[in-house]
Amino acid sequence: METNCIFCRIAAGEASAAIVYHDDELTAFWDRRPAAPVHILLIPNKHIDTLNQADAEDTHVLGRMILKAKDIAKKEGVDERGFRLVINTGLEGGQSVNHVHLHLIAGKQLPIFHG
Ligand code: 5GP
Ligand code: ZN
Repeated sequence: METNCIFCRIAAGEASAAIVYHDDELTAFWDRRPAAPVHILLIPNKHIDTLNQADAEDTHVLGRMILKAKDIAKKEGVDERGFRLVINTGLEGGQSVNHVHLHLIAGKQLPIFHG
């Protein structure tokens, strides 16, 4: 737990967020500035700065984040229409919060990604 990390604070229940799912390993909550009708962030409760700092012991939670995102997409009714999962990493990857997070974005036609 990094006390100055907003996502650690959300996972610990010390900062408010619209929580979608929480267990002892991961937390999902609505992005405060949604880029689409569905925009939910999934995080490991454990602080990991970026994907560059993740290692083998994080395999389980990172895998669960993908599967949980799929379950939430279904709950939000967008699984069949389609959705996008994104992990921005580092400066050039567009990461603005240094606690690994998986974006679940859906509910509108997303632009074809060309990089
Ligand atoms: P990144 O650019 O790092 O991939 O994404 C960070 C995301 O976190 C952004 O979409 C931003 O709107 C969201 N965000 C930043 N701070 C907060 C916060 O305090 N609460 C919530 N719910 N979302 C946040
Ligand atoms: Zn953190």
